[in-house]
Amino acid sequence: MRVHRPESLDEATALLNDLDDAMVYGGGTAIQILRKQGLLFVEDYVDIARVPGLGELMVTSDVLSIGTLTPLRRVETDPRVRAFAPLASETYGQAANPRVRNTASAGGNIAHGDYRLDPPTALLVLDATVHLASSSGTREVSVREFFTDFQETAVEHGELITAITVPRPPAGSRGAFEKMRSLSENDWPCASAAVLAVPEEGFVEIRIGLGALAPTSVYLAFDQTPDMTVQQAVDAAIDIANSAMDPIADVRGSAAYKAHLGRIAVEEAVRRCLKELARD
Ligand SMILES: Cc1cc2nc3c(=O)[nH]c(=O)nc-3n(C[C@H](O)[C@H](O)[C@H](O)COP(=O)(O)OP(=O)(O)OC[C@H]3O[C@@H](n4cnc5c(N)ncnc54)[C@H](O)[C@@H]3O)c2cc1C
Repeated sequence: MRVHRPESLDEATALLNDLDDAMVYGGGTAIQILRKQGLLFVEDYVDIARVPGLGELMVTSDVLSIGTLTPLRRVETDPRVRAFAPLASETYGQAANPRVRNTASAGGNIAHGDYRLDPPTALLVLDATVHLASSSGTREVSVREFFTDFQETAVEHGELITAITVPRPPAGSRGAFEKMRSLSENDWPCASAAVLAVPEEGFVEIRIGLGALAPTSVYLAFDQTPDMTVQQAVDAAIDIANSAMDPIADVRGSAAYKAHLGRIAVEEAVRRCLKELARD
């Protein structure tokens, strides 16, 4: 294992461009496990810890900017994040366990591309943007276009994630995250759902992010029109989620069991959001 430690973004992107088969090293929590499991044979790692500015977490009136090296635990606990986008705090706070969350980075989390990751479900409904840099410049990708296939993302050769930005959630919106586990409290989910209910003129937009229920994280949305009761909105959410589900059977449960838990997660999250909207 060769670890390169660039001191600037230019140096980091040059290394990623020039080395044949190098990986960015963020918190290392996924990389170390994959190496121990004998599933990762990459030799060159570009550790970006010394690149200035990549661990900054900033909140303005319009946007939350999460530098790629921000630990998941910081997104969970920073009071500014909690005030700006409570759904982000809630969801980041349920990934893995505190030890992993203290080490794992926000950029490494989404770059890992695992279909079961928790944070992407919230980032999808919050309409986040992923910021990428390479030696040929920078680009932005909507998180809704970021997860391209099983364990695959929009990150291209020579690129690294610099930040994730989240726009201010629409006025009056309410969010909820539900995670279903079958093995232990800190385990990966069998199914998860983040929901954001956004009141619009004459209807409520219901946004749904699903985790662990298909080969990638999934984004869905529909409108609750004024003639729909809460139960009808819940049924519509379950229908639309059902049609997108394609769970993978594993030690945590059969595909049918995961789909069942997925429907419960969606129902619970939609009910929580609509209950809070009704209270406002
Ligand atoms: C025991 C355990 C339980 C877990 N349970 C959960 C869970 O319940 N829910 C959940 O969401 N996650 C869970 N995880 C996964 C965890 O969230 C990820 O391991 C972690 O977020 C990865 O972040 P990292 O910074 O450690 O990434 P790394 O291990 O450093 O890298 C992971 C991948 O991302 C790439 N990468 C890293 N940074 C960048 C960057 N800036 N630009 C481009 N590519 C980059 C790396 O090259 C690599 O491919 C669990 C992990 C463990 C070890």
